[in-house]
Amino acid sequence: MFPVMLNLTGRRCLVVGGGGVALRKVDALLGEGAEITVVAPEPQARLEALAAAGKLRLERRSYLPGEAGGFALVFAATDDREVNRRVFEDAEAAGIWANVADDPQLCSFHLPARVRRGELQFAISSSGQAPFATRRLRQVLERRFGQEWGEWLAAAGEFRRRVRGLRLPPASEEGLFDTFFAATVTPTTLKCRVPLTEEVEGWLATVAGEEDAAGAPVPSEDASLPAPSAPGLVSLVGAGPGNSGLLTLRGRRRLLAADAVVCDRLAEAALPPDLPEGVEIHCVGKVAGNHPTPQEEINALLVRLARQGKRVVRLKGGDPFVFGRGGEEGEALRAAGVPFEVVPGVTAGVAVPAYAGIPVTHRREAVRVTFLTAHETIKSGGPQVRWDLLAHDPHATIVGYMGVTSLPVVTQRLLQEGMAPDTPAAIIERGTTAAQRVVTSTLAHLAADATAAGIEPPALFVISPAVRHAPLLDWFSTRPLAGRRVLVPAPAPEVVEALDVLGADVVECPLPPSSAARLVIASSPLTGCVLATRDEVEALDGERSRPGWDGGVVVWCRSSAAAERARQLGWRRVVEVGETLADLLRFMTGRSPMAAGHRHGG
Ligand code: SAH
Repeated sequence: MFPVMLNLTGRRCLVVGGGGVALRKVDALLGEGAEITVVAPEPQARLEALAAAGKLRLERRSYLPGEAGGFALVFAATDDREVNRRVFEDAEAAGIWANVADDPQLCSFHLPARVRRGELQFAISSSGQAPFATRRLRQVLERRFGQEWGEWLAAAGEFRRRVRGLRLPPASEEGLFDTFFAATVTPTTLKCRVPLTEEVEGWLATVAGEEDAAGAPVPSEDASLPAPSAPGLVSLVGAGPGNSGLLTLRGRRRLLAADAVVCDRLAEAALPPDLPEGVEIHCVGKVAGNHPTPQEEINALLVRLARQGKRVVRLKGGDPFVFGRGGEEGEALRAAGVPFEVVPGVTAGVAVPAYAGIPVTHRREAVRVTFLTAHETIKSGGPQVRWDLLAHDPHATIVGYMGVTSLPVVTQRLLQEGMAPDTPAAIIERGTTAAQRVVTSTLAHLAADATAAGIEPPALFVISPAVRHAPLLDWFSTRPLAGRRVLVPAPAPEVVEALDVLGADVVECPLPPSSAARLVIASSPLTGCVLATRDEVEALDGERSRPGWDGGVVVWCRSSAAAERARQLGWRRVVEVGETLADLLRFMTGRSPMAAGHRHGG
């Protein structure tokens, strides 16, 4: 079967039949500019209506022998097989393309299932073998490709016209098309965007000198640079509490469109692994043993990048304006005349308790929430918290950030001020991630219990009557894959979704891994990876000495070829699982009789 796109404008098309199937064919033809004739003794009401509206010509009669010969394209969709056959044979005799509904033998062409986004169309064909399958595939594509693809295609068309107008050598033309595509399409997620006018002008400017290369003087280096642009925008983006799924949609869009990202340590886990390689990443967080980059240097870096005309994302853990110094950075940018915006994030103070089954408010029990840090209290001279007020408000929740060092001080002050020692309390380390640990206790004992459990930063404590609900509301740590951190090569939306719902922390990693993906992987140790092919095993082989990987990483192989290659390369924990998603999930959740590491199948 050979696919073509037909221009039906002004062409005569015949549909024989007046039922639901004929109507579907008519619907497919409407809007294509064809001159449609429908022949049917008893047409459906909608066909009558379309005829009355002048959209088609309706002949209320039986098909006449030889009639098909006068058309460009013919459809038969009657419930009389003989009539259908006659239409087809007439069309054949006249050398005209014909399609008989539900009768592949009597078709010289098939109609594909279509997905349409403006001028962009996908046509999916099973060569008449399984239309049910292509219809369902079509639904999948309908969901994956948003309406923005129509606008993207229009922009691509306009870009092509502009490029053509420059009369460049073919290689330069293709280079520009590559640039357009790479900057506007994220292949792993099938997302696209329309480029900004300035971007397009910038790309076209890069080749502006080429056409003159033969004769005209080569422009000096300075003249070939784009005109100094206005300072770029800085987006102060909240990355959420560390679980990659808790970054907002806008935050993700800003990241994917950024030229530079200035990233805090706690925010690295939320970087999109599909961040394009061209994006500069500046890590300014505290790395074990090293001091964090001083705030003034971060401010200066943001200003410098923006003045280079770059789109800058300042990625911060949680929400930028909750104990995140976002306010200070905003003020420094304003003082430097650099435009900025805030993309709020999911703050740890709400999300981390939620992952431990603790609602920060609860009707009748906790009707006020206080976010606090005792950091300042510990240092003398800083603004002080009114412990006396907090201690006497039993229907309230206290959420303490930077909890590890300040917990003993906070609990002691609250007890001194008369707060009930048996007030429920909890501390949560690395909440929302695979490494989450929760210690539940009371105000009087939490500090000692946290020390005994070896709780380390980042951790957050909650003192609240609502902590009582944690055992009942714990929805996260009870999931079958909670605590597992799994790498899956991108794109694998189905596997990612399935593992995520089962509680795993999933890194959907492009191969070869991007710099962003490496930072994400380094942020917390991997449990294992799910690999389907030899190529995937090979692409990750060299990664195993990097941070986040350790000797114990399991590789769940979805083919024997992958398993064999992994063993050859000396991967230690190779588990061969079946090819289907169900097989994989059975193995990973330990519900397969063979999950204990035996080989599966043959
Ligand atoms: N702007 C951030 C807070 C930054 S202060 C926000 O809105 O969440 C850093 C503190 O946040 C840590 O010391 C810890 O108390 C808390 N925190 C951040 N992520 C956390 C996590 N995943 N689990 C527990 N606490 C976390």
